[in-house]
Amino acid sequence: MDRTFPSLLARMQELKDLGGVIGLATWDQETYLPAKAEGARAHQLSTLQGLYHERLVDPRLGEALAWAAGQKTLEADQQAMVRVLTHERDRAVRVPQALVKALAEAQSHGLAAWRQARKEKRFSLFQPALERMLALRREQADAYGHDGERYDALLEGYEPGMRVSRLTPVLTALREALIPMVATLAAAPRQVDNPLEGRRFDTEAQWGFTLKLLEALGFDLEAGRQDRSIHPFTGGTHPQDVRLTTRLDETNPLSAFFSTIHEAGHGLYEQGFDEAHYRTPLAAAPSMGLHESQSRLWENVVGRSRAFWEHFFPRLAQAFPEALAGVGLEGFLAAANRVSPSLIRTEADEVTYNLHIVLRYELELLLIHDELPLSEVPAAWNERMRRYLGVTPPDDCLGVLQDIHWAWGEFGYFPTYALGNLYSASLFRAAERALPDLTGQLRRGELLPLREWLRVHVHRQGYRLPAEALIQQVTGRGLTDTDFLAYLREKYGALYGVKL
Ligand code: ZN
Repeated sequence: MDRTFPSLLARMQELKDLGGVIGLATWDQETYLPAKAEGARAHQLSTLQGLYHERLVDPRLGEALAWAAGQKTLEADQQAMVRVLTHERDRAVRVPQALVKALAEAQSHGLAAWRQARKEKRFSLFQPALERMLALRREQADAYGHDGERYDALLEGYEPGMRVSRLTPVLTALREALIPMVATLAAAPRQVDNPLEGRRFDTEAQWGFTLKLLEALGFDLEAGRQDRSIHPFTGGTHPQDVRLTTRLDETNPLSAFFSTIHEAGHGLYEQGFDEAHYRTPLAAAPSMGLHESQSRLWENVVGRSRAFWEHFFPRLAQAFPEALAGVGLEGFLAAANRVSPSLIRTEADEVTYNLHIVLRYELELLLIHDELPLSEVPAAWNERMRRYLGVTPPDDCLGVLQDIHWAWGEFGYFPTYALGNLYSASLFRAAERALPDLTGQLRRGELLPLREWLRVHVHRQGYRLPAEALIQQVTGRGLTDTDFLAYLREKYGALYGVKL
């Protein structure tokens, strides 16, 4: 039996190493894997994940963690490591193996049914798979345990510590503030159009510009790399091996620029973990929402700001002299910040985006509570789209079937996107207070002071504190929509010439 901290630490390191190799195999799967290797890779990943699970639920690890939890002489970071791993292990232990297996099967069924339903644009083809998945996820929520709110147990998997009772009032207030804001912007006399439409941007030059952006952001390309993939993501094996991907589209260069900045935000977080936490449970973000706050802060609050492009637009114009002929900074900023209620979440602007999330969150609560007949889901979706955004999906593919999350059983994930947006605005406000010349620095293309501030206050903290406690520590208050709404009102009021 392990009764020393070093022997427990060795188990923690082993788990992190396994997780790293899983990360590498997953990254490769999404980037360079030859088509014929897909089946083999699925087996390899399943074997590795099985090993990880085995090590995690090993009763000897449970005993070592229980022993360590009682040791008052451990340092604060060591106690935090024990807390974080105990939390992960307790959740894994509570789900019976038969349920784990049933969930994995329901996922592959769900994915296949969802693809077929999208092809035929008919939700009804996805409905039975979704029904099965919901039943299993409810069962899993009960296995995890909760205080009568099943959704909490699922949310806990993505946003530890967050509760429906905390989240619903914030998201409802956000919804009520955003609906009139979207309507005011749609009716604004000054409308903003996209001067980039119809132009072509060489993809090699786009790639070169994304590398310049990474350099300016301080993403360490000797401790990570960038590649291409269909859906941009951040992965990797270790804080010194962080893999970003971006997407190049000849007709829409903003897609590559903002994907790169977004993923770099995730990547800087990963690279910024404290060296003392490497190969321990503390080299991790405390929640998906906090991770997303870093990507959104760089992509939106910084990357879509006037100050940022005052420095970068002249360089962009140099890289694309023909494609950008006749387009000035104002036109480019307009293209990057156009507000337009649309059907697809992933293409939504900053103002409308959270309404897409609130819609999904509300439906997920009804579904997990078994309060909405599945046959009525498309109608409930479309009705909310009309009420919140004033648009109606012409078919299920552009409506309820657009996201992969439900096919994958990921109930509880969507709200983390909204949390990321809210946290990003609060963190940026705090950074502005701490760095009085922040806007001037951004105007001069000096991004490193902000990166350093985030590194000290967020990245190096790793998983010492739960997300909201960390936000409280850095900004002086917890989850709030105040900073985000103030940010939107200021920025979009000026851009559209209206009072929001
Ligand atoms: Zn992200």
